[in-house]
Amino acid sequence: MSRNLPATPALEWSYAPSREASEIVELERRYGLFINGKFRAPASKKYFPTINPANEDLLAEVAEANATDVGRAVKAARDAFEDGWGEMPGKERAKYLFRIARMVQERSRELAVLETLDGGKPIKESRDVDLPLVAAHFFYYAGWADKLEYAFPGLDPEPLGVAGQVIPWNFPLMMLAWKIAPALAAGNTVVLKPAETTPLSALTFAGLASEAGLPPGVINIVTGAGATGAALVEHNDVDKIAFTGSTSVGKQIATALAGSKKRLTLELGGKAAHVIFDDAPMDQAIEGVINGIFFNQGHVCCAGSRLFVQESIHDRFVEKLKRRLSTLRVGDPLDKNTDVGAINSAEQLARISELVEAGQQEGAEMYQPDCVLPRNGFWFRPTLFTGVSQSHRIAQEEIFGPVLSILSFRTPEEAVEKANNTPYGLSAGVWTSKGSRILWMADRLKAGVVWANTYNKFDPASPFGGYKESGFGREGGRHGLLPYLKGVG
Ligand code: NAD
Repeated sequence: MSRNLPATPALEWSYAPSREASEIVELERRYGLFINGKFRAPASKKYFPTINPANEDLLAEVAEANATDVGRAVKAARDAFEDGWGEMPGKERAKYLFRIARMVQERSRELAVLETLDGGKPIKESRDVDLPLVAAHFFYYAGWADKLEYAFPGLDPEPLGVAGQVIPWNFPLMMLAWKIAPALAAGNTVVLKPAETTPLSALTFAGLASEAGLPPGVINIVTGAGATGAALVEHNDVDKIAFTGSTSVGKQIATALAGSKKRLTLELGGKAAHVIFDDAPMDQAIEGVINGIFFNQGHVCCAGSRLFVQESIHDRFVEKLKRRLSTLRVGDPLDKNTDVGAINSAEQLARISELVEAGQQEGAEMYQPDCVLPRNGFWFRPTLFTGVSQSHRIAQEEIFGPVLSILSFRTPEEAVEKANNTPYGLSAGVWTSKGSRILWMADRLKAGVVWANTYNKFDPASPFGGYKESGFGREGGRHGLLPYLKGVG
């Protein structure tokens, strides 16, 4: 499907290409909306293209849902809730979720390739991170479906009804799993809107759920851009909105829902601090930092995008980091050797470029390895900035790309003060060999998740979410059921 030659890193040696075959994915030319168990043409009569960001090839056309379409999807979800799903014994609901989890595992290679084609992420990530976590989420919440009264002892948990769910493009199938698995386990039905640049895995998942025998209307997928999401958020017959995306859209949604009875959870942006003390195991910390910012091209809400290195090791650490950057392989996302794939869209590339330019203009010093980028598609070199000050835009704003801003600190107190100097509060990382210091830091860092001597570790049993402008509510773990139940809060 790609018409580019993969980029070659500027090394004296390189791996031979090892391309994952894409024939396993069979795409339709056009996709309708998945409503009440079937793909249907949109009332809007409109379709939009979805492309492969690694070469700009058209993958398919996808229906653009308008308010009428969203209304049909919400009605289907309401009917399915009232016609049995909401009352179904938990152990019966669990069977569907277990079946979906197993089918995701069976079709994981196909789904991983599709995720990489539509989103641009390296196949080794969609294969080894996204898909296993998607299956794990369905397995995990399948396990809770018949144990809700044990999850919340002494209470009488009940489903809310219809959940409207809006997700971003950075982990399309994983975000779908984080939303759909707990909602269904708790007895709700859903209308989910995937992001406009990555709708294909959600649509394929809808077909899979049908094959699993899920009753029509329990899951509905409406595709489209912001207007479709807004129509879902504003629909009168939705009981709960779960949104993952940017802080600016999150604020609009919070405003739109103020005064309504709809429940709301927001998983928003981040600008995580990754703090390296001078007693940290340096080579491991370098790998942690690389994973923290270059995983999924930095399109990660919890990316460790602000690096704080203790002054005594700053220069040596940065030197090593630069060397490591130059060994990252940037290029064809379907190549199993690729470390950094394509930027998700032209719009995202423009935003990254704009912020990187601002970093240079504000006086920070940029380093990029000398790698050759493919001619077509959307690409950005792994980038780091030194000489960054707290007030620089690259230290304050979420770049959502493969760009690291490096600052230094002298004392633990200074590290905490600088790390917390952000409107966000989603995640943080600490590297030190002192256990007591990890606990001291974790107590003081204002972040929903603090990783110690590791980074970007996810598990369905572990709650994830932020505070401050990173949102509210938790996904994952027992906490992830709370937003989908009444009688427990
Ligand atoms: P975005 O806010 O532009 O879009 C997210 C989703 O909302 C998309 O499906 C979009 O179509 C939809 N949308 C846009 N305008 C809307 C509106 N007015 N009403 C309803 N829906 C609307 O964000 P994005 O660029 O797709 O994703 C990147 C952002 O998501 C980053 O800020 C990132 O940090 C955040 N994110 C957060 C988490 C988390 O768990 N906290 C996880 C992944 C991504």
